Amino acid sequence: MSKKIAADYKNKNVLVLGLARSGLAALELLAKKGANIVGADEKKDISIPDRFKSSNIQLGPFSFGLLENCDEIVLSPGIRSNHPIITEALNKSIPVISELELGYRFATAKIIALTGTNGKSTTVTMIERILTESGYAAIAAGNIGNPFCAVTEELTREGIFVLEVSSFQLEMISGFKPDVTGILNMTPDHLDRYDSVEDYYMAKEKITVNNDSKDTFFYNADDNRCSQVAARFEGGVVPFSSSIRLDDGIFLDGDNIVQAAGGEIKQEIMKTTDLKVVGSHNVENAMAAIASVQGWGCSAESCKKALSVFEGLKHRMERVRKIEGVEYFNDSKATNVEATVKSLIGLDCRIVLIAGGLDKGSDFKMLLSLNLMHVVLIGSAAGLIEKALFGVVPLSHAKTMEEAVQKAHDVSLPGSCVVLSPACASFDMFTDFRHRGNLFVDSVNKLGVG
Ligand code: ADP
Repeated sequence: MSKKIAADYKNKNVLVLGLARSGLAALELLAKKGANIVGADEKKDISIPDRFKSSNIQLGPFSFGLLENCDEIVLSPGIRSNHPIITEALNKSIPVISELELGYRFATAKIIALTGTNGKSTTVTMIERILTESGYAAIAAGNIGNPFCAVTEELTREGIFVLEVSSFQLEMISGFKPDVTGILNMTPDHLDRYDSVEDYYMAKEKITVNNDSKDTFFYNADDNRCSQVAARFEGGVVPFSSSIRLDDGIFLDGDNIVQAAGGEIKQEIMKTTDLKVVGSHNVENAMAAIASVQGWGCSAESCKKALSVFEGLKHRMERVRKIEGVEYFNDSKATNVEATVKSLIGLDCRIVLIAGGLDKGSDFKMLLSLNLMHVVLIGSAAGLIEKALFGVVPLSHAKTMEEAVQKAHDVSLPGSCVVLSPACASFDMFTDFRHRGNLFVDSVNKLGVG
């Protein structure tokens, strides 16, 4: 069993590499704990908040000089773990940890941690809502846009953190040990960063590396890889499934989400039609959330109450507007082809899809399983998607989001849906998926105006 490292940072020389949201939160926590901090980022043009103006901040290409007298490095998820400065640090035996690990060292509250390829933010929010409804002090943090280091001291022992954890953060953990650990699904992604799918899956599976017999694992029993992790897990397991009748766990009985134990249905939690969010992927997410809180005394009523009002997060199959019988959805957060397919497969209309962006090594032929009426291509992966769909689905190209929305509008027919679900990362044309989604929403709202 791994022991929690006593977090004493007084006068320790700590280098934080990468000064986006999580790096800045790490820097702030370390400063508060009396560490001598250095923050560095390779981008010269980033804006550093005023409160760090007196700190040692170095912008521009990393030099090995940063490693002089350095006791520890906190590495931001955006920087690859095989970056030359990290290789050099490891050669010098300087410990390198992620911001997640640092946050963990100061946390006293219980932790539910969740990873997976798709559905993490949605599920983490669902869990937080159920716990809050059940009377717990709960905070959703981590990759959801709320760095763990920024909130780690905000909950006491009685509280529960619900952490969204990415494979990048997991690469650099050492003692991180959640009380409840979950994996939603594992499908190929981030092949621009990992040498193989296996490497990516292994990074995800690291979430359970410190778990022991006292901990619990919840997982998608419909996913082979997740089931393999469950088979090796030392503690208790809670599976969920959309397709199998489970003896123990959470599964779908018709359109009822039920809890089974010892081969019998113990209770009906809620009907899928009571969920406010749309799509079969969200039924899976709801079942995962319910599975995660088994053992925390949350009643079926609390689960139902929380999930029947949760409208979903922005940029995830967000309903934007209906114009002339055409429904517009913003699914900008679908940054890989599995996410796009999963969220659109059950959609009850012909789809005009806006897709493309930065490819991460996806198999775009998977899009052929969708009820596509037309695809408007954007971004640098446009050619790859065109190659996969050519001759089967009518295609057009657009250079801007506004042009893409106009072209989608022009080819749509009453009863069809226009969906931005790019199946790619956004960074070739936009700051991030939010920027991409906001431009889509703005362009849709301008249609027919003026
Ligand atoms: P993540 O935080 O893992 O990126 P989100 O909850 O933000 O996940 O959802 C991102 C996108 O992934 C959604 O817009 C949808 O297209 C897709 N998605 C959500 N849940 C699932 C799921 N359970 N399985 C597959 N795809 C999903």
